[in-house]
Amino acid sequence: MAAFRTLDDLQPKGKRVLVRVDLNVPMENGKVTDATRIDRILPTIREIADKGGKVILLAHFGRPKNGPDEANSLKPIAAVLSQHLGRPVAFAADCIGGTAEKAVAAMKDGDVLLLENTRFHKGEEKNDPAIVDGLAKLGDAYVNDAFSAAHRAHASTEGVAHKLPAYAGRTMQAELEALDAALGKPKKPVIAIVGGAKVSTKLDLLGNLVNKVDALVIGGGMANTFLHAQGINVGKSLCEKDLANTAREIMAKADAARCAIILPVDATIAYHFAANAPNQVYGLDAIPDDAMILDVGPRSIERINAAISEASTLVWNGPLGAFELTPFDKGTVAAAHHAGALAKAGKLIAVAGGGDTVAAMNHAGVADDLTYISTAGGAFLEWMEGKALPGVEALRA
Ligand code: AMP
Repeated sequence: MAAFRTLDDLQPKGKRVLVRVDLNVPMENGKVTDATRIDRILPTIREIADKGGKVILLAHFGRPKNGPDEANSLKPIAAVLSQHLGRPVAFAADCIGGTAEKAVAAMKDGDVLLLENTRFHKGEEKNDPAIVDGLAKLGDAYVNDAFSAAHRAHASTEGVAHKLPAYAGRTMQAELEALDAALGKPKKPVIAIVGGAKVSTKLDLLGNLVNKVDALVIGGGMANTFLHAQGINVGKSLCEKDLANTAREIMAKADAARCAIILPVDATIAYHFAANAPNQVYGLDAIPDDAMILDVGPRSIERINAAISEASTLVWNGPLGAFELTPFDKGTVAAAHHAGALAKAGKLIAVAGGGDTVAAMNHAGVADDLTYISTAGGAFLEWMEGKALPGVEALRA
């Protein structure tokens, strides 16, 4: 990966520093229910403020349709951020124009100001030059600490990075370094685990991975499509039968690239998609017509764990089974424990990411054991698909 500029390259003293952050936190009844994203941006804010910079925070919140609306205002988040930061956070009711300019002009070195939801302006998502100019006017430098929004070329994530000297914040830097260690310049052999519901949502991802990794474990509902493509009866399992040819093409591509595909060799089945539904382990030659495969079986787990043991690097997206329903979380939890123990012992670089995967790793209790967990959903997947992320590209030195 070409180098990108970081806070090490920025002398913020006396400067107005626009910092793009991810404050798109879950809220219920006006309360933040998970402050992970807030906590992740604190190091960057503190570092710039402590070095005498004026920290001007840019963020989006929700998906406002028609300009400003109270439900999508960032105002309540300013108070929560202030509590976590342990210092005052001022708020301006617009992110461009007179209101924002006045608030910025009133700042002293080391102050922190949060600007209102960038998506209250339609031009934000269109990367409209008028919005880009309005934002650029407010700052002397730009820092992007929102990897999770970096797959979008919006005014605040990409456009403004071309108008001001641009740098990666500490959280963005950590994310880029972890991802680079997993797929950019990884220690070989590299294994990927891809699970989840459907093949159709992960075609680009599988296509990219077979050229990058030495072994690819396919689990979850999507494995059923691959099994069906090999002539195995998967009964009533989730299966995209119309993608059988695509599955065969992916396997041929993997073969040509010398990437070993590891599919389940047995299955835990049930007759209802429900927690604690009566379940049994079956060999793949005997899946009953009215059964659903809801998890990989014990021999598959052994095989997957043995493959993980042989790897130096693991990258993981998607659960191996319907992990939200016990006991169909068994495969995912067993592989997560194994990867977590190896990573903790320094024997494996293990990076996991994507919405459901974060929940699965938390469920398995290995979030602190893995080398890195990316909480970015779409951006993590696009990165796994090998796509250039506009917000990251704009930071390259
Ligand atoms: P994804 O968002 O594509 O990573 O898919 C995650 C979802 O896939 C989770 O909600 C799992 O419950 C579901 N899933 C995983 N394995 C299976 C399976 N064998 N049958 C049905 N759903 C599954």
